[in-house]
Amino acid sequence: MGIADNSPVPRIAVIGGGISGLAAAHRILDQANRLNRSVDLTLIEAGNRLGGVIHTCERDGFVLEAGPDSFISEKPWGLALCRRLGLESSLIGTGDAHRRSFVVCQGQLQPVPDGFYLLAPTQLWPAIATPIFSWPGKVRMTADLFLPRKKRSGETEDESLASFVRRRLGREALDRMAQPMIGGIYTSDPEELSLRATMPRFLDMEQEHRSLILAMWRQRQKMLRSHNQQAAGPRYGLFVSLKEGMAQLVKALHTRLPPDSIRLGTQVSALWKKPSGGPWILNFGNGSQLEADGVCLALAAFQSAGLLEALDAPLASKLRSIRYASTATVNLAYSLEDIPRSLEGFGFVVPAIERRQILACTFSHMKFSGRAPHNRALLRAFMGGALQPEAFDYDDDEMIRIVRQNLQELLGIVRPPLFSLVERHAQAMAQYRVGHLDLVAEIEALAKRHPALQLAGNGFTGIGIPDCIRRSEECADRLLEALDTAHPRLMPPRVAQWSD
Ligand SMILES: Cc1cc2nc3c(=O)[nH]c(=O)nc-3n(C[C@H](O)[C@H](O)[C@H](O)COP(=O)(O)OP(=O)(O)OC[C@H]3O[C@@H](n4cnc5c(N)ncnc54)[C@H](O)[C@@H]3O)c2cc1C
Repeated sequence: MGIADNSPVPRIAVIGGGISGLAAAHRILDQANRLNRSVDLTLIEAGNRLGGVIHTCERDGFVLEAGPDSFISEKPWGLALCRRLGLESSLIGTGDAHRRSFVVCQGQLQPVPDGFYLLAPTQLWPAIATPIFSWPGKVRMTADLFLPRKKRSGETEDESLASFVRRRLGREALDRMAQPMIGGIYTSDPEELSLRATMPRFLDMEQEHRSLILAMWRQRQKMLRSHNQQAAGPRYGLFVSLKEGMAQLVKALHTRLPPDSIRLGTQVSALWKKPSGGPWILNFGNGSQLEADGVCLALAAFQSAGLLEALDAPLASKLRSIRYASTATVNLAYSLEDIPRSLEGFGFVVPAIERRQILACTFSHMKFSGRAPHNRALLRAFMGGALQPEAFDYDDDEMIRIVRQNLQELLGIVRPPLFSLVERHAQAMAQYRVGHLDLVAEIEALAKRHPALQLAGNGFTGIGIPDCIRRSEECADRLLEALDTAHPRLMPPRVAQWSD
């Protein structure tokens, strides 16, 4: 980084060392570097490692993901960051041979019908042939082909996932597929989950095509045509990961940050300004302080609320109204010979109506290569979420017992695992409830009163890793712009664009 003439160097604090904080910090340095300017960056993390919920552990040749195991390739910001970090050759797609999943139906694993995408079929025949739905359920689903579209009061009108699916495809489609598939991603109650904030394309499909099934079918035809025409190049499928696990992304970001810019084991306890103005002041748990000209909060919304309480109570109150759910992962390592049935797929989801205490289970060794040594298997179950909050409070032994009991009933696995790993993510999954986007707009409007303060994290415009990266990069750009406006000498003239 070059040293800016005689201008003071802007001090920027990023609070939170998960993917949001890391992506923001990386973008700030990257942009400053491109413009040959200096910034004094500090990334502050309460824990003793970076990555937040991203946590890959290695043991006996297994690569265990205690948090996210992949990210979606359809949203470009994850892949783009990996490429900028030089990780392209480490990207791995899901195994082609077993690209299918199962859903538990009356105690049995049934394959998700071919072409079924999250909540609706793109092909009618597999959805009719599957035993997952009853005949009345199938007839009700096809009624979507004839039902009129719902008149909306405005383009941004919201609806819960449950209401939308019940209305278009019927109750069975909700209970048997949409709830476990989408509830599994968001660990949410479908009666509360905002479709506008999570999967707006389904609402738009109804407005554009009237029938969801027709819209999905047309989209599939279009996709097939464009795939056939696409130039050769790496295709990863819907989900991608990294050879060494998701922590490889964290490690790559870490190595791009100057070592003295990172403060681990440092909890920020308050964020304030003197009434006369001046820089931001960060209070740490140990009584020390840090001054910063700009701050990016890369935390859960309620954690940001806690820091902002004294400074801006209305903003803090809005931030607090974004709820979070807790979830736990239970990794179990097995000898392949102890698994009596072949696991030809990526895993299964469990509808709430099945009344089991696990939400889903990934067959990690089938989903991505290199996750288990030869002749070994790695299974990863999820517990908790908005619909089963009590399960999060069980101790490790109880969680392992419940997962093993379910694996015995569903997969016939009786033998104990070689070892297991339980990890809890307390209040880590933001719940985007109906009206979420309006709430975020109100938060953005209130936050604008503090231009050198940016709110990143998974509570606002997407919970997945690519969305977190996008938001953080936008926050970094806005922060640099605000500092440029507040201290014109700090940044070069506005001829350069911040974005790529
Ligand atoms: C179990 C699980 C599985 C998931 N699976 C996927 C998946 O497969 N694909 C996908 O795309 N997404 C997945 N997600 C979602 C995605 O991983 C998260 O939304 C994202 O990683 C959140 O990153 P973050 O940096 O915003 O928050 P976090 O990772 O929670 O990081 C916030 C950091 O801030 C620190 N902190 C908190 N308070 C303070 C303070 N006062 N001072 C200093 N530091 C503080 C915390 O210690 C933490 O490290 C999953 C999430 C979970 C929990």
